[in-house]
Amino acid sequence: MLGLMQDWPLTVDKILDHARLNYPRREIVTRSIETGGLSRTTYYNVWRRAQQVTNALQERGIGLGDRVATLAWNTERHLEVWYGAMGMGAVLHTLNPRLFPEQIAWIANHAEDKAIFFDITFTPIIAAIAAKLPNVKFFVALTDRDHLPKADIPNLIAYEDFIEGHTPEAKWGGFDENTAAGLCYTSGTTGDPKGVLYSHRSNVLHGMAANSVDCFGAGAADVVLPVVPMFHANAWAIAFVAPMIGSKLVMPGAKLDGQSVYELLEGEKVTFTAAVPTVWLMLLNYMQENNLKLSTLKRVAIGGSAVPERVLRAFEEDYGVEVIHAWGMTEMSPIGTIGKLLPDHHAMSHEEQIKTKLKQGRALFTVEMKIVDDEGVEKPHDGKAFGRLLVKGPAVARAYFKNAGAKNEKGECLEPDGFFDTGDVATLDELGVMQITDRAKDVIKSGGEWISSIDIENIAVGAEGVANAAVIGVAHPKWDERPLLIIEPKPGAAPTREQLLAFLEGKIAKWWMPDDVQIVEKIPLGATGKINKLALRETFKEYRLPSTQAAE
Ligand code: AMP
Repeated sequence: MLGLMQDWPLTVDKILDHARLNYPRREIVTRSIETGGLSRTTYYNVWRRAQQVTNALQERGIGLGDRVATLAWNTERHLEVWYGAMGMGAVLHTLNPRLFPEQIAWIANHAEDKAIFFDITFTPIIAAIAAKLPNVKFFVALTDRDHLPKADIPNLIAYEDFIEGHTPEAKWGGFDENTAAGLCYTSGTTGDPKGVLYSHRSNVLHGMAANSVDCFGAGAADVVLPVVPMFHANAWAIAFVAPMIGSKLVMPGAKLDGQSVYELLEGEKVTFTAAVPTVWLMLLNYMQENNLKLSTLKRVAIGGSAVPERVLRAFEEDYGVEVIHAWGMTEMSPIGTIGKLLPDHHAMSHEEQIKTKLKQGRALFTVEMKIVDDEGVEKPHDGKAFGRLLVKGPAVARAYFKNAGAKNEKGECLEPDGFFDTGDVATLDELGVMQITDRAKDVIKSGGEWISSIDIENIAVGAEGVANAAVIGVAHPKWDERPLLIIEPKPGAAPTREQLLAFLEGKIAKWWMPDDVQIVEKIPLGATGKINKLALRETFKEYRLPSTQAAE
């Protein structure tokens, strides 16, 4: 027997429609790309102009399922193109400007993008690759005629001219909720990047889950600043959440440095914000150097890589701001777990609570998780045993675009039991709190046991004079692999091998102790700000441990 409720397809156009009808005058503030000053608009105006985008796209031949790309910061115009494209059933493809131009071209060609909207900051990238993009029919610079770049880009038009004259009445929705809405390529640290193709339904469900009370928990009275870019997995759902709930939205444009973010937090009275740890390190440094306080911020979501202890403590202990530690990935829309404490944790000491908050947290509703060994056998939830972390849910990828990386004949990227292997290695405890111990490919396999490179790194960054630390496994004739600690010193500091090893002693198991330490000028970072272990392994491919050399 079927239920007797209405059919109301979960399509994202309904989100902005809801904002137009219920919060038409709620503000959206953007740091202008052209001037660096602030511009102000409303949900009503964004809806109106998004409708114009739809009409302009359709007039130029864009239709259902066509990929429309953006190479853009978080701005009101990006939001307009976002909804204008998705609303009509085109697929909004966010390109990551932090990749090399050749990678961007490869991705745009793989996606068969038909149009690219770009911020003028990225004109040199577009000028360099435009000739290599045969599918792109036209380029739109997200600016007005006065600021249109004078670069050699074919079929180029300024955004304001693109939408001008188009009516603010377009037909949105009316298609299946499983229709593709967005496309985002994973950073691809191994092999070619792979496209994650979100559906309308997955975005709506994920947006609602992401804003549950134990997750973002934002409402109409909040002022939300997504520093995390829309090209990094949908700004962690905020581009959907904010119009769903009618919060004021503050878009940081191109300026993500400590001072600019601080000015927005205070000037716009932000109550909730989200970004990767590196952004918060810049903000905290700026505030500490200038002796500043935060007067309105209540919560900060931090994810993308593990929250460093000093960031957690600074926000919670020095500034009274609650940290929401989030873990997820592009393939999960992206949020999987959230580090809010349970009543069971409330009796713990402050120090124990800090330890728990440094873990990645509990599954959101819509996410199922399990940890398994290499044979797929489930590991116990005791907080100690670690295994490959597998996930399942309505906002988790089933297959990559064009079946890249398929694991079965249906083209899916799933394990035989239908779970998605995150590539992370983790523990789960009896309360369901998950802790990432490593990336599967970074875990060091020594004498049949696993050593967590992340655990050692997190401790090593606390040593004096250390700016950044990385641990990689290097070949060993007896143990298979042994850990090598690589250190980037702080400017002017010169920590020694002996000091660093002495610092680690007693903090990690004896057999986890790195066999050697190497000091480098700079630890390489990838396009999303994470340590590039692939590059490090390449740099140290000829390196042999002193113990191995001695045995030769
Ligand atoms: P991406 O798809 O580029 O966002 O990368 C996803 C990967 O980032 C995950 O599989 C994790 O390895 C890592 N990651 C994300 N959030 C966290 C976190 N809170 N702690 C540790 N690693 C994280």
